[in-house]
Amino acid sequence: MSELRSSYDVVIVGGAVIGSAVAYYLTADPDFDGSVLMVERDPTYIHASTALSAASIRTQFSNPLNVRMSQYAHDVIRDFPDLMEVDGHRPDLAFQAGGYMFLAGDEAQAAILQDNHEVQTACGADVVLLEPDEIAQSFPHLRVHDLTLASYGRRGEGWFDNTGLLQGFRNKARAQGAHVVHDEVVGIARAGARVTGVRLASGAEIGAGHVVNASGPRAARTARMAGLEIPVEPRKRTTFAFICETSPEGTAQVNEGRLPLMVDPSGVYCRPEGAGFIAAAPPKDDPEVDAEDFEPRYDEFEALVWPALAARSQAFEAIRMTNAWAGHYAYNTLDHNMIVGPHPELENFLFANGFSGHGLQQAPAAGRGVAELIVHGRYRTLDLSPAGMERILTGTPFPERAVI
Ligand SMILES: Cc1cc2nc3c(=O)[nH]c(=O)nc-3n(C[C@H](O)[C@H](O)[C@H](O)COP(=O)(O)OP(=O)(O)OC[C@H]3O[C@@H](n4cnc5c(N)ncnc54)[C@H](O)[C@@H]3O)c2cc1C
Repeated sequence: MSELRSSYDVVIVGGAVIGSAVAYYLTADPDFDGSVLMVERDPTYIHASTALSAASIRTQFSNPLNVRMSQYAHDVIRDFPDLMEVDGHRPDLAFQAGGYMFLAGDEAQAAILQDNHEVQTACGADVVLLEPDEIAQSFPHLRVHDLTLASYGRRGEGWFDNTGLLQGFRNKARAQGAHVVHDEVVGIARAGARVTGVRLASGAEIGAGHVVNASGPRAARTARMAGLEIPVEPRKRTTFAFICETSPEGTAQVNEGRLPLMVDPSGVYCRPEGAGFIAAAPPKDDPEVDAEDFEPRYDEFEALVWPALAARSQAFEAIRMTNAWAGHYAYNTLDHNMIVGPHPELENFLFANGFSGHGLQQAPAAGRGVAELIVHGRYRTLDLSPAGMERILTGTPFPERAVI
């Protein structure tokens, strides 16, 4: 491990999937010959959203930019072994092309699915609308009497190895020269309209040409170190793992990719995972939580998850919870969408925050975009500027409506 230098061209605060993606795209750019330091306070990632996520990717968003970001991520996941090869190790993310299926329970929900479907297909996504009898045909164990429509992604959607995505970016970035250090950024120095460096918990003062805020649910805390406010809060989400006792088709069959990631009209979602399933519900109460509070809300299983699933399929009437964990969405309270790019007050302090529950799949495009801003001063591939800080400052939402 090389010595920590006194200054770097880019210092990244947070070394999970977003920070690692920024480090990778910077160091992969032939026009970048600068130095990169990525600071991570907990390299076990035990509480990082990245490690606690449902690890899924979809094209079924309401916002075309989000559709396109996921389409790019799908390509990156496909090509990951080639892109991230280090010393002959070719990380494969074990992508399961299970698809997503959103279910509508009334005409209003059906209209939303239809609107979103237009956006998605205009972007080239392979999403189809299914009438209730078609849902029953494709997924015979589901009860469809109360459904009005479904939207099903036939390609480009599924789930994959979440920590593998993080580690692949991180290892490749290191191999390409990024310096990764286990420490915590506790202060950010400013001089006028620029940030000039960071202070670490270990006491080191490090100069910086650019600072990138990739601190996930702690993003507002990091922004405050530079005297800025952003509307990003940690919001708790509990994920439950369960197994089925019996199933009309046999438990094994239900799990052999026959059920996509299904989003019930109630908002409860579930998807196959190993020999069982994982599931979660949108919480009834959704306050900001303490950054250290990872106590699962166990009551959501009996109160929300199980009733919704049991009503949807006989296979889910007798189920047993085998595990539960809580993670934090970095929730953008303005419009449930990412904030990417600089702050007009501080041109060399860049944000990649507020992903509101879909940042794993947005990491490749967000990391690439931030690197483009730093190296080239503008977006060269996907234009992420609608997701910039300006709309936050003017209170003009750039919304994503399909937040799970
Ligand atoms: C339950 C749940 C399910 C999800 N499901 C999905 C999904 O299916 N698909 C999807 O695309 N997204 C999903 N997400 C969202 C996704 O996980 C996040 O958007 C994404 O992981 C954000 O990555 P990040 O690097 O910004 O944040 P994190 O993974 O939280 O990483 C931030 C890192 O910054 C470090 N850090 C913070 N402050 C400092 C500091 N001052 N100094 C040094 N280090 C610091 C932290 O230790 C942490 O490692 C889910 C999230 C949750 C919680």
